[in-house]
Amino acid sequence: MKQSSELNRMLRQIDHKGYPAYKQLRGEYQFPGYVLGIDHVQGDPFAAPSKVSIHIKGKQAGFPEALYRLPCQKTALENVLLRQMGRQLHKMSFQAKGSGKSGLMSVSSPGQEVLPRSGCQLDQETGDLVLRMEVGFPANGRTINARELEKILFDFIPESVKRSLYYQAFDPDQLQNTAELAEDQEAIRQQLPERKLAAFVANGSILPRESGVSSRPMKQAVAFQSPQSMEVELTLPNRGAIRGMGIPLGVTLIVGGGYHGKSTLLKALELGVYNHIAGDGREYVITDQTAMKLRAEDGRSVKDVDISLFINNLPNGKDTVKFCTEDASGSTSQAAGVVEAMEAGSRVFLIDEDTSATNFMIRDELMQRVVHRDVEPITPYIERVRELYEMFGISTILVAGSSGSYFHKADCILQMNRYVPADITDFAKEEAKAFPVLEEAPKMAQPSFARVFAQNRKLAGSDRVKMKTMGMDGISIDRETVDLRYLEQLADPEQLTMLAQILKYAEINVFDGKKTLAEVVDVLEDRLKKLGFAGICGERNVSSGLAMPRRQEIFGCLNRYRKL
Ligand code: ADP
Ligand code: MG
Repeated sequence: MKQSSELNRMLRQIDHKGYPAYKQLRGEYQFPGYVLGIDHVQGDPFAAPSKVSIHIKGKQAGFPEALYRLPCQKTALENVLLRQMGRQLHKMSFQAKGSGKSGLMSVSSPGQEVLPRSGCQLDQETGDLVLRMEVGFPANGRTINARELEKILFDFIPESVKRSLYYQAFDPDQLQNTAELAEDQEAIRQQLPERKLAAFVANGSILPRESGVSSRPMKQAVAFQSPQSMEVELTLPNRGAIRGMGIPLGVTLIVGGGYHGKSTLLKALELGVYNHIAGDGREYVITDQTAMKLRAEDGRSVKDVDISLFINNLPNGKDTVKFCTEDASGSTSQAAGVVEAMEAGSRVFLIDEDTSATNFMIRDELMQRVVHRDVEPITPYIERVRELYEMFGISTILVAGSSGSYFHKADCILQMNRYVPADITDFAKEEAKAFPVLEEAPKMAQPSFARVFAQNRKLAGSDRVKMKTMGMDGISIDRETVDLRYLEQLADPEQLTMLAQILKYAEINVFDGKKTLAEVVDVLEDRLKKLGFAGICGERNVSSGLAMPRRQEIFGCLNRYRKL
C-alpha cells in the first residue's frame, strides 16, 4: 500500500497530460484514519464516473457493536451512513470543475425500504467499514486537471468521511433509535408465525404515499386503525406493547367501494416484506417475508411450468404440465405466477383484482350453466384458494371490490370504508347464504417442480458479458431483455442491477442441466448469505450501486428470462 503523499506526487506528475494517464492512479492509499481505494478509472471525462472506495477499521470507525448485532440492525446502520455520506457529498459535488462529469461525487441514495447495499458494508465481526462511491475525475476538455482532483481526494472526501463514517460524527440517540427500530421490526416478523398471522399493521400507520412518483408518506392522511375484532397486541423488545391489525393466516378478503383505500392497504402489505425507515409511516407494517404479489402479465414468457391445477385441455392441445409460451395470456401468465410462487416457497399470496385476469379469478354461476366445465380450460383461482391454504399452507390476501364470489371462501372479510377497515365477516357470510355455492373442481394435485435448465454455453465462453439496468423496468444481459416491471415488490433499481449480476452468475456457474430451479436458487442464496455481494460479483469486483433482492425476486427474474 502507498501513502497519500505518493498519490499527491503522482497527481502533480500527470497534471495536464492526456486523460488516460489517470489510469496510473489505480491502487490503495493510506490516508489519516482510512484507506482510499481507486478501484476503477473512467476512460474519459464523459464516461461513467470512476469508482472509489473508503476502508475504515472497526476500531477507528468506533461504532458500538450493540448497534449492529443483528443483521437487520447492521443493514439499518449501513443505510444511515450512506445517507449521511450522500448529504455531505451533495454539498461538494461539482465544486471541482471541468468538462463532462468532472467533479461529480456520489453514493447510492437509499429509499424508504431498508436494503443491504454494496454502497456501504459493515463487517459484523470486525466492524470494518467499506464505503463505495463514484467520482468524476476532472479534466479540461480531455486534458487532466489534477489540481481539481487533488481538492476532491485531499479536501472534499476526507471532510465528508469525517462527518459520515465515524461514530463521533453522530448523535448517539439517533443511532440507538435506528438499532432499536430494526430490532422491533424483526421481532414483529418473528412473532407472525407463532401468532398465526400473515401480516401486522400497527394502529397509527400511514399507508398512502405522497404521489405516484414519491414514496414519502402522504401528509394529512387518515391514520390506520384496526377493527376491534382483529386487534392484536405484540410486545416488542424496545417499544414495548404495540397494537394493530393482525391479518390471520387463511383467506382474507379486502372489499369496499372504489377509492376507499383497498389497493393502498395491499400495496403497504406488499412492501411490508422489507423494513422501512423511521418516519415512513409503515415502520410497523410487517408482512410474512415470503409474501408474493401475483398479477396478470400478458406477453411474458413461461418455461416448463406445471399449470395443470388451473389450466387443462387447451384448444390447441398444448401441454399444461410442462407449459411453455413466449407470449402468455392474462390467465396463463397468472396461473404460471401462482405455481412459480409456490415453487419459490412463498407462504402468502397478495392479489388485487385491479391487476388480475378476471377469468383466472372467478367464473360466475350463470356462466357455469351456459358454458359447461368440460369446454372451459380454466379452473379459476376461487376453486383453488382453500386448497392452497389447507393442503399447502399458503394464505391469500385478496382485494375484490366488484365480486362477492369469494365470500364463501374467505375466513376473514375486511371492508375499507373511507380508509378505515371494518370486519364484516359475519355479515357478509350471512348474506352469502342466499347465494348458491358453485360446484367444486376436482381436487388439485401437487404441481411438479422438477424442471431443470442447462447452462448457456455462449455466456460461459465469453469473458465480458454486456449488462444493463433499465431503471425499474428490467435488465438486459448479452442484449437479451428481461422484463421485470411486474415484479411489483422490487423496491429499488439497484436490486435490478444485482439481479443482472445474479443471472449472469447463474448462467455461467450454476445451471447444469441437473439442478432444479429451486436448487439453483438455493445455491445462489447460500452464496449471498455467506459472502454477500462478493459471493456473486467476486471479491474484487463488487461495485457501488447494488442492492439485495429477495429469494422470490431472484426466482421471478429467472422465470422471466427467455433464454432459460
Ligand atoms: P381503491 O383500491 O379502494 O379503489 P386506493 O387504495 O387506490 O382505493 O385509494 C384511492 C385514493 O385514496 C388514493 O389516491 C390514495 O392515495 C388515497 N388514500 C388511500 N388511503 C388513504 C388514507 N389512509 N388517507 C388518505 N388518503 C388515502
Ligand atoms: Mg384499487
